Amino acid sequence: MSNKALDMNLDTEIAQIRAQYLLRLRSDESKLRRLVSDLASRIDKTVIEDIHRILHSIIGSAGTFGLHQASEEAQKADEIVISSFNALEQESKDFSNIHLRTSVIAFCNFLDEMFQNSDLKALSERHPEDLLAPIIDKSEETGSTTEVWLIEEDEELANQLSEHISNFNFHIRTLNLSDALAIANTSGWPPVTMIDLDGGELGRKNNMRLTLTAGDYRPRRLIALSNDDSFEKRAYAAKLRATAFVSKPINIPTLIHHIEKYLESAQASYERVLLVDDDHELRAFLEIMLKSEGIEVKVLTQINEIVDVMNDFRPELILLDMEMPDYSGIDIAVLIRQHPQFESIPIVYLSAEQDLGKQSEALSFDADDFLTKPISKPRLISSIRSRVQRARSLDKLISKDSLTGLLKHGSIKDSGARELQRGRRESYPVSIVMLDIDHFKKVNDTYGHSTGDVVISSLATLLRHRLRQTDLIGRYGGEEFLVILPQTTERSACEIINEVRLAFNEMQFRYQDVQFSCSLSAGCVESSLFADSDLSELIEAADEALYSSKNNGRNRVTARSDLD
Ligand code: GH3
Ligand code: MG
Ligand code: MG
Ligand code: MG
Repeated sequence: MSNKALDMNLDTEIAQIRAQYLLRLRSDESKLRRLVSDLASRIDKTVIEDIHRILHSIIGSAGTFGLHQASEEAQKADEIVISSFNALEQESKDFSNIHLRTSVIAFCNFLDEMFQNSDLKALSERHPEDLLAPIIDKSEETGSTTEVWLIEEDEELANQLSEHISNFNFHIRTLNLSDALAIANTSGWPPVTMIDLDGGELGRKNNMRLTLTAGDYRPRRLIALSNDDSFEKRAYAAKLRATAFVSKPINIPTLIHHIEKYLESAQASYERVLLVDDDHELRAFLEIMLKSEGIEVKVLTQINEIVDVMNDFRPELILLDMEMPDYSGIDIAVLIRQHPQFESIPIVYLSAEQDLGKQSEALSFDADDFLTKPISKPRLISSIRSRVQRARSLDKLISKDSLTGLLKHGSIKDSGARELQRGRRESYPVSIVMLDIDHFKKVNDTYGHSTGDVVISSLATLLRHRLRQTDLIGRYGGEEFLVILPQTTERSACEIINEVRLAFNEMQFRYQDVQFSCSLSAGCVESSLFADSDLSELIEAADEALYSSKNNGRNRVTARSDLD
């Protein structure tokens, strides 16, 4: 479906929900009038509580539907209702039944007037200002997702860089500044752009610099390259909004690291959010609002099913209403935390509660944020995104190796064993590969440990880019890697890994003024060669093939089946 058609659908849906909401508001008004007349004959605390509950829900919902004044008027009436209730509780003489009733009636009259003065249809079609406006940069919507642009006038450097970078399977496109601006203007910027600040065009033409920094059409993630690592040059890059700065001579692994990080954030998958709110219309509205930002939403309708729904949907965040009929938001949050598998899932409360004391009390029960209704879309979306992001990084910290971002020893063995089982069950071949960098001790001894780290992380990056999404890659030991390739025979595993070997061997590393390269050895084995073996036995078999590579001169790939 085209974006326009989607927008139209969204508009119709929202108009429908808003029309429903207005009907509800009318029935709330009649309820309030009835409760107030009950109070005229008899003072009853539960009636006052009912009035408060209705007003409180209107404060939160009306603003969200763009009826800001209604929300404010409800707030005024509610304050009087609350203080009257407290006075009654304390048996204080300040309690005034008349004052309470007149303020609620004043609010009902306000609603009446609002319904009369504006025709309902117009009201229901009005967009609350910020709710539908897309938050994402215009530039985010267009452009390919893996393309990387290099704005470079120095042809020799351009060729050199593209050659190195193409080892990592990025789609690199070299352009001059004017062409880049022209293309970006019609089809948007790619996720990552590198720009050489030493080029003449950028310095000479002021208008180009301006276009590069102009609001909506700015490049998305910009990496500046320059031979001048001075404060002035870096500040200039910062003015262009370059969030990375790589000085020349360019250290390729560093550059790749930046590109990869940016591409990863551009391709991050949709956040999964579970929405728990008893207000039917508000719930439907929030659902559309989040979906319009590409967030996956599940609405919980039966509160007693929350655990099953969570196990099934695996939300990355829970949006939880504070006030619901049978259970409060805190009740539900505490119940969620009783389950160890949900211990770290972010919980964000939604509430019309303005009282800071009550807000912090709610937060003390292991929740993460408190958003007040009416909710502003940017605030809601950014709260969701940042919290999901944090939760994802924490998760990564637990299972991934920090230097390489690959699975840690234990994690690769666990997921590898699962993959092997699936292969055996569904009768497809799984190949297991052990890789080890050659004479790595010498790299450390000659160029230092941190240069060694660059080599290790470069091989990790190379593997990530050369292998498929479904392949598993782990850092098995210091400079030793374990790769699991599902649906791959030993023969093709050897071919794939041989490509990696060649690309790795071509990479140039730098230590001060010295350039050097490295090589790797590998051993491959296919699961069907050892029919009943578990993963550890297959790893051992791959290791035997690896050591045969080492003994035969290194920088080679050996198939286990060629050994016998
Ligand atoms: P071979 O070709 O036989 O594999 O020789 P090698 O020198 O690579 O062999 P060995 O496995 O004995 O040496 C690996 C070295 O890797 C030893 C260790 O200090 C180093 N190493 C392990 N982890 C790291 C790391 O995280 N960073 C760095 N820089 N070095 C590491
Ligand atoms: Mg509620
Ligand atoms: Mg080694
Ligand atoms: Mg080793």
